[in-house]
Amino acid sequence: MEIWDGHCHISGYSGTPAERVEQMVALADLMGVARLCIFMGSTFQQDPTPEQLRKANDEILDALKAWSSRAFGFVYLNPKHLDISLAELERCVRKGPMVAIKLWVAQHCDTPEVDAIVERAITLDAPIFQHTWRKVSGNLPGESTAVELARLAARHPKATFICGHTGGDWEQGIRAIAPYGNVYADLGGGDPTAGFAEMAVRELGEDRILFGSDIPGRSYGSQLAKVYGARISDTAKAKIFTTNLKGILTPALARKGVAL
Ligand SMILES: [Zn+2]
Repeated sequence: MEIWDGHCHISGYSGTPAERVEQMVALADLMGVARLCIFMGSTFQQDPTPEQLRKANDEILDALKAWSSRAFGFVYLNPKHLDISLAELERCVRKGPMVAIKLWVAQHCDTPEVDAIVERAITLDAPIFQHTWRKVSGNLPGESTAVELARLAARHPKATFICGHTGGDWEQGIRAIAPYGNVYADLGGGDPTAGFAEMAVRELGEDRILFGSDIPGRSYGSQLAKVYGARISDTAKAKIFTTNLKGILTPALARKGVAL
């Protein structure tokens, strides 16, 4: 099966951004992964300053120069620095090669600042990947839950959202996003617990689930197992591994003239 990985980072490798992706691609080749979505820089900043945002995005732009044949870039934004974030969206997506947006833990995603980013994203056909988690030990100050993403998605039915980690506590995450057809479940990160993909197929349908690994924070073995080992049809597996992600990225890729 062709595999597209919707969730990869360039941290945890060594060298320049291009060299980091080279190491990632070597791993992807071993595991049969064709395409990689990359976002955030070689070091993670939970609440990046404007300078840190630009540096992180510059690193992804550098990596894409060498690896546009295998990798797609998502621009990293921080809603707390809204003007800078909209400028980064302009620089990296409208005028640059990136095709989607990554939001992490700086700001809860249901706050009004995020609306301006979403409205701009709609005009660019850029999906928004929002990290979500619900931690027993308590979330980080700005860390979003799947419930918060569901609230944002309800306000923006024309936007496309990816629920990063499906809320971490995925049994709750799946239920939170289920009513919103514009929200896709990311299987990436977390342990390879049995039942995740099965419940997602049952509750969301096989068209709203995306394979993501969250490498190198997680291994390909543990993440691919969530799909390969799931008791779902081969058709559903193919959709999760390729078709669904390809579908939501195609409008943005078409704008860039990327032939698939
Ligand atoms: Zn991640």
